[in-house]
Amino acid sequence: MDAPENSLIPVEFLAKIRSNFPSDFFTTEPDELRSFGRDWTRVYEPKPSAVVFPRTTDEVSRFMKLCSQFAIRVVPSGGRTGLAGGAVSSAGEIVLSLVRMRSIGEVDPLALTLRVQAGAVTQSVHEKCAPLGLTWPVDFASKGSSQIGGNIATNAGGVKVIRYGLTRNWVLGLQVVTMNGDILELNGALEKNNTGIDLRQLFIGSEGVLGVITEATLKLTHLAENLDVFFFGLQDFNSVLNLFREVRRSPFQISAFECLTEACLLAVRENRNVPSPFQQSYPAYVLLELERSPDSTRDIWEPWLSALFEKNLVLDGTWAQSAREARELWVLREGISESLSKLGFVHKNDIALPIANLGPFIEDFEHTFASRHAELKVYLFGHIGDGNLHVNTLMPPHWDRLQFEKTCEQADLDLFHLVQKYQGSVSAEHGIGLLKKKALHFSRTPEEIQCMRAIKRTFDPQGLLNPGKIFD
Ligand SMILES: Cc1cc2nc3c(=O)[nH]c(=O)nc-3n(C[C@H](O)[C@H](O)[C@H](O)COP(=O)(O)OP(=O)(O)OC[C@H]3O[C@@H](n4cnc5c(N)ncnc54)[C@H](O)[C@@H]3O)c2cc1C
Repeated sequence: MDAPENSLIPVEFLAKIRSNFPSDFFTTEPDELRSFGRDWTRVYEPKPSAVVFPRTTDEVSRFMKLCSQFAIRVVPSGGRTGLAGGAVSSAGEIVLSLVRMRSIGEVDPLALTLRVQAGAVTQSVHEKCAPLGLTWPVDFASKGSSQIGGNIATNAGGVKVIRYGLTRNWVLGLQVVTMNGDILELNGALEKNNTGIDLRQLFIGSEGVLGVITEATLKLTHLAENLDVFFFGLQDFNSVLNLFREVRRSPFQISAFECLTEACLLAVRENRNVPSPFQQSYPAYVLLELERSPDSTRDIWEPWLSALFEKNLVLDGTWAQSAREARELWVLREGISESLSKLGFVHKNDIALPIANLGPFIEDFEHTFASRHAELKVYLFGHIGDGNLHVNTLMPPHWDRLQFEKTCEQADLDLFHLVQKYQGSVSAEHGIGLLKKKALHFSRTPEEIQCMRAIKRTFDPQGLLNPGKIFD
């Protein structure tokens, strides 16, 4: 167990690690440093001093206490699928990875709860619950790698927010280790607990700057049995909003309402080698998932679907006839992020608007980008039912990275001013991390940021935990 050359780790600290933790707890192996020092953003050079792999909360607690004593900076790390650089270690910190803390308890069928360690992979939790007809309804394309702790630390959204809400709604209890090594048990498995400030809520969505989440009691719900998936071709973005209005007015339970543009569909088709669902292309597409009651049959949709065409709300449409076809339609939406990353370097924005402001915002956005940033090809998609738009741009093949980043910086300023004008958020679900730090003030007032800093100082007075994330 040696520290790398130029390491910021004191020799006395290393000696304590050696005598108090298992021999495989700590590594400075270059491949591990590279792999655990980054997340999905691929923007920052990974430069951790070391990575540690605790197996228990006690190990996390003793490690954090030691780091506090030696003023060592720590980055909590989950599945590293984050898109804001929150789990990145680029300045010699020690990465605390939760990969070995992945045990999943037994489902409590009466309370509909499940206790897990924070490193449990999101999809494994789904797989544990599914045979019992239950689920933890936090769902998105990266669920095969993301961890429960990361989901909670980012208050993750995803494709089912319109039906179930954000991660915050599905966490009953948390176990958290603070920077000085204290273990906080927050709310246990209580549905109701009005005993002062609910500290659990502070940690949900705090991007690992207040404490390390080590365990959670998750709240479960019943798996929807009959989900029908539709894919529509539409005239433009306004038609997407008109269709959304129509679906909201219907008596049906919406499970997902996702939109994408033709550019996004082409990117997925190119990358995944999948056919288009339609003979011709359309400027915009919607993937709609509706939940049907167990006693109904699929023909309940037919009159309503016909009316969509009669009212010219949609130009084309298809309807999955089997689970396989439903998965194929979902690939067209869920494959976008991955496909764009494979096509080149992607600059991402993840914004939210009040749904009522989406129409005017998009009009303003399209005009601004056409007149001021025509050189950028925009890939627009998102969870429209939640007012959440992903605005991605792909670096053109002949550009160098610096030129692209400078252009995107200008374009971002215009985008964020528009977001502010329409009372939106500069980060809907990915968080602030390192990537959106400069944009925080577009969505939060100086007074709010002051309060956040004061909370940070309470839990981490030396500023050692996930330093430089959210704010400096
Ligand atoms: C293809 C793709 C699709 C995606 N789709 C969505 C989507 O639809 N909706 C959405 O919300 N996100 C989405 N994401 C982003 C990402 O998957 C989520 O933010 C996810 O919740 C991150 O979990 P993770 O375990 O990978 O966290 P990491 O990336 O490892 O970490 C994220 C943040 O949480 C902190 N953290 C991690 N674990 C802990 C812990 N135990 N205690 C304290 N802090 C911790 C880290 O320090 C960091 O700040 C997508 C990502 C990809 C690559």
